[in-house]
Amino acid sequence: MKYIDEYRNSALAQHIAAAIRNAASPARIYRFMEFCGGHTHAIARYGLPDLLPGNVHMIHGPGCPVCVLPIGRIDMAIELALRHHAIVCTYADTLRVPASDGRSLLRARAQGGDVRMVYAVDDALRIAREHPDRAVVFFAIGFETTTPPTAVAILQAAAENLHNFSVLCCHVLTPAAIAAILDAPAGEAPQGVPLDGFVGPAHVSTVIGSEPYAAFARAYRKPVVIAGFEPLDLMQAILMLVQQVNEGRAEVENEFMRAVTPSGNRKAQALMAQVFELRERFEWRGLGEIPHSALRIRDAYAAFDAERRFELGYRSVADNRACECGAILRGLKRPIDCKLFGTVCTPETPMGSCMVSSEGACAAHYTYGRHKDAQASAA
Ligand code: SF4
Repeated sequence: MKYIDEYRNSALAQHIAAAIRNAASPARIYRFMEFCGGHTHAIARYGLPDLLPGNVHMIHGPGCPVCVLPIGRIDMAIELALRHHAIVCTYADTLRVPASDGRSLLRARAQGGDVRMVYAVDDALRIAREHPDRAVVFFAIGFETTTPPTAVAILQAAAENLHNFSVLCCHVLTPAAIAAILDAPAGEAPQGVPLDGFVGPAHVSTVIGSEPYAAFARAYRKPVVIAGFEPLDLMQAILMLVQQVNEGRAEVENEFMRAVTPSGNRKAQALMAQVFELRERFEWRGLGEIPHSALRIRDAYAAFDAERRFELGYRSVADNRACECGAILRGLKRPIDCKLFGTVCTPETPMGSCMVSSEGACAAHYTYGRHKDAQASAA
């Protein structure tokens, strides 16, 4: 298959693996964070850690949009469904993310809330047109990849005078989160995880381009290599990171040139800028409050802002104490470090957000890695 098989060629993968083994100095450890949940999934799915030498470690980052959604935001969506009797539309994974008091949007539906799974924001617009007498709220989550369609939907609703439609905006920004992870003395993560570089996200970078990473690569002296989602993309990006570290460089390199340009998609950026502005602060699950790390709807489109329209307040809620999602999202722990992993917490019965989406570190490890853990402990 053109442009798929080429990036899954096992002989080439072995060749790049040998190049990584040759390039990686045995005298040091390399720790690279893959920020994007799609990369976390691909690394687990293709068993890439097995191809890497023991001193090259991949650390999962907070780039799964469902994983970083704080409990308080899901509580707001539940309030919209149960107290304001709105039709709440959102993506499937969001329905299962644990909220406070053992609730979730799925449970809110079981309690009589009108919560609907949609594939795209266009579905929410259609539902709003079909139910002019009901308030319809799109619960918008995700990074820069999913933000432009939300902007288009708000502009469309404004053009149509679709006043029963609004958006609970929880869109977050990638560069701010990467900077927050690095924002500590000596360039280490706040809780002491040393990082040598980042695999830059793929889809997000198609929108924002490679330029936004340059400032913190320079400021924090951390290389970034933007990579596609195929196994050879990731192996090549890891080789490029090892080479940068060896040469003492901290640059932004683009392995995913077939889709990512330096300046990204200007039209999508203009749409986002027209409809959204920076929030001063936004809480991320696992990372706490990060300044200027999320978007809110501009005053000009306030009529389509569910937060203002329904006067929703935000209340921060701590995670379940037994759940290690916070530490995993900060790169401090691995899924198997959580006592609940694979016992009480499974993809069918998630106790934390990292077990919900296939892009979450716990779900990826549960699906592709746990059998190896069992073999290792039996040996
Ligand atoms: S296994 Fe479940 S409870 Fe534990 S960190 Fe992962 S998602 Fe959270």
